[in-house]
Parts: sequence; structure tokens; C-alpha cells
Amino acid sequence: MRAFTFERAESPQQAAQAMASHKNAKFIAGGTNLLDLMKLEIETPAHLIDVNGLKLDAIAPTDEGGLRVGALVRNSDLAADAGVRKDYPLLTRALVAGASGQLRNKATTAGNLLQRTRCPYFYDTNQACNKREPGSGCAALKGVSRQLAIIGGSEACIATHPSDMAVAMRALDATVETIDAAGKTRRIAIADFHRLPGRTPHIETALMPGELITAVTLPRPVGGKQVYHKARDRASYAFALVSAAAILQPDGSGRVALGGVAPRPWRVEAAEAELPNGAKAVTEKLLAGASPTDQNAFKIALAERTLAGILSQARA
Ligand code: SF4
Repeated sequence: MRAFTFERAESPQQAAQAMASHKNAKFIAGGTNLLDLMKLEIETPAHLIDVNGLKLDAIAPTDEGGLRVGALVRNSDLAADAGVRKDYPLLTRALVAGASGQLRNKATTAGNLLQRTRCPYFYDTNQACNKREPGSGCAALKGVSRQLAIIGGSEACIATHPSDMAVAMRALDATVETIDAAGKTRRIAIADFHRLPGRTPHIETALMPGELITAVTLPRPVGGKQVYHKARDRASYAFALVSAAAILQPDGSGRVALGGVAPRPWRVEAAEAELPNGAKAVTEKLLAGASPTDQNAFKIALAERTLAGILSQARA
């Protein structure tokens, strides 16, 4: 690990100002992803800004009837919150599908959204990776791609976003709240938060340099039956090959989103009109235009079966 300097931020705006005044700085909260990346020298920040003391760890109702989740709420606390379990059970189910209990106790809401891909070539500094080193190439395109994206990728990168929580938040239409060094706040729809790679896979979100996430807001509860399922190579502590979130209403309408298939949580609202016609029809629209590799084409069938499973569970 490379040497770095360290400071504790005293307010959200001061944290953003500290970021703006240092070259190559990073915020640190739970550190469950960042510290691993620093040990491997994939991330080499010269300065760390600890945001753990910013009192952004409350879960509170909003005036609109929704829930405001502080950026520093730990994944375990969010999953266990009585209001979340009652009104947003999809979120609890997605959270407990992610990582291990120990990691969920440390990992934060904002950090979960910002975690980096688990593409094996991103973690191997001997391999070309446009995300780690812009312009160096992408070893995954001709390499082992079983875990990687089947849709939304580009010739520069086919990595997936690894979060389960973000898939549920996409289905729930969450909003990300931020603050910058000037104290200006911003609200970003989760649909616009994670970027597709295009030619710049190293730019992963809509955040501006130095912008700090302060909260994630969930809109009024939508009700319905909410189910999340994660298909993976082993039963725990593994990332999704495919995951699926569904919110199904009594009249047959609903929402669906997929994880493990794209560089961001994958939801296509137009596909949800096909819900009365079953999982195959939904999957065909959801994954229209998919361009899998020979090694991960199985994800299309797996997505359809995973969706069929959760829709039947929701209808039962
Ligand atoms: Fe890097 Fe993306 Fe290629 Fe993986 S798929 S090696 S993260 S550029």
C-alpha cells in the first residue's frame, strides 16, 4: 500500500472542500472496497478524507411520505430497519443477499452505490484495463468473461456493477442527494446515477469531481409483492451471475430490474408492460440488443428463469 495523508471531515461541505483542495483524494467511510483496492494498488489516493463523523447515519421519513436514508447508514442497519422491512421489503432482501454479515456491518449506503466492479482483470495490474488505466485496452474482451456484462457494455469495457442494493433502489426509483464544495446540493435520479461505459469506463457515475453523497431518498412506498433473487456460483459471499428484483401489484402490473448483467442496475420500464405475458416476454424486451460473449450467453436464459421464479413467488 502506498503512503497517504488523512483527515477527518467536520461537515459535508467541508468534506467536499477538502476533496476539491487535494489532488488525488478519496472519501472513506466503511472502506470495505477502497481498502482492498488500496492494498492491491489499484486505487492509490494521496489523501483520505474520513466522512464517518458527519452524522449522515439517520433513516427518517420525508414530507412526501417516503424515507430518507443517510449516506452513512450501514447496510445491516438499513436492512433491519422496521420501516424498510415493512414498506420496502425489496431493499431488505437485496441487502441481505449482498456480501457477508461482517461486511454489511461496515459498508455504507453511499459506498455500496460507489463500489467498483469485480471484473478479475480490473484487479490484476498486469492486465490491460480501460477502467483502471484509461486507454490501456480491455483484457476481458478476449479473456474470461463468464461473469461480465451481456448488455450496456462497450468496446472499451464489459464490466458489471456488483451491487445488489442498487438493483432494488433502481426498482424503487430512489434519488441520490449530494453536496459540493460550494455547498450546492443536487438530487440525481438513480436511473441517471450509474453511467454506461462508452469510451470512458473509468467515469462510473454522474457525480462531479469532489461531490459527496449525503443521502438516498426513497419515494412513497409502492406496495405490491416485492421479491429479490440472486443466482450465483455459491450460496453466500459471491457476486451475482444474474439477480432479479420484482414488485408485482394485484392487477398484474409491476416493475422489474436485473443485476449482474450490465454496467449498472438494468431496468427498462417499457419491458414492464409485458408482465401479464410472462417472464419470457419481459426478458425479451429487457435484454433486447444484448451482445453476450460465448462464455456468458447463458445469462439470457438464466435471467429469464430467475425472473420466472420471482414472478411466480410474487404471484403465490
Ligand atoms: Fe477493465 Fe472493464 Fe475490461 Fe474488465 S471489462 S478489463 S473492468 S475495461
